[in-house]
Amino acid sequence: GYARSRRGKGFRGKQRGLPAAARSGERERGREMSKRAGPPKHQNTYAWKPNLGRKINETEPGGRFRPLSEITGVCQRCRDQIDWKRKYGKYKPIVEPAKCQKCSKRNVRQAYHNVCTGCSKELGICAKCCTSVKQLVGRDAEEANSERKELEEV
Ligand SMILES: [Zn+2]
Ligand SMILES: [Zn+2]
Repeated sequence: GYARSRRGKGFRGKQRGLPAAARSGERERGREMSKRAGPPKHQNTYAWKPNLGRKINETEPGGRFRPLSEITGVCQRCRDQIDWKRKYGKYKPIVEPAKCQKCSKRNVRQAYHNVCTGCSKELGICAKCCTSVKQLVGRDAEEANSERKELEEV
């Protein structure tokens, strides 16, 4: 549509060959159609497994002896996103604490998080996408423990 409308405006000089071009374009399209006919050549018979055929060191993060920490402090959507990364082998565990976008301290200890646990709880926001959420996913064991202690003391 684009080329033709441009050519239709002016017709400067001898601009023949439009019908031929159109015809060749049709032929091109026809070939495209025939290529797409029928079932896809490579149909997946099973879900792709990221670590298939690769020996996983069981002591490395994500291995059997060092399971990845629970995803906490994020909204359900971000949790799903991180979960997806883990599932498909795209997850990169955090190597050193990252800078929190709220308090600027280097105490973000979970991969893909932008805000530290303290700030996300204080502000009631997701530690990844920073939208305010009523319900954050999960809670760290530490917090639950201290809460229990407080209850016992009273
Ligand atoms: Zn913070
Ligand atoms: Zn989020």
